[in-house]
Amino acid sequence: MHTSTNVFKRQFILTCKQAAPLASRSLDESLTLHEQLLLKWHLLICQSCTTYFGQIKLIRKIIRDKRVSTMGLSDEARKRIAQVLSDSEAAITLNNSNQ
Ligand SMILES: [Zn+2]
Repeated sequence: MHTSTNVFKRQFILTCKQAAPLASRSLDESLTLHEQLLLKWHLLICQSCTTYFGQIKLIRKIIRDKRVSTMGLSDEARKRIAQVLSDSEAAITLNNSNQ
């Protein structure tokens, strides 16, 4: 019983140290279902990480809002521009290698 409790803890309960990077990654990329569950579970039981997560979410939102209002562009538009830029970089590399 004791052993199985330890296994349960190891697999399903994150430490705050493990939860924090997951929380910040979840704002930039999508986590696996397993990671999402681990993070949600940890946030349910941990007040300090819930507060931390709320704060980093707020900071991201402020940064994003500020950038959008500065550039007047949506996320989607900026992604398209980044795509075009990286395509033209690739084209330049190709042209240079032909010379
Ligand atoms: Zn925590």
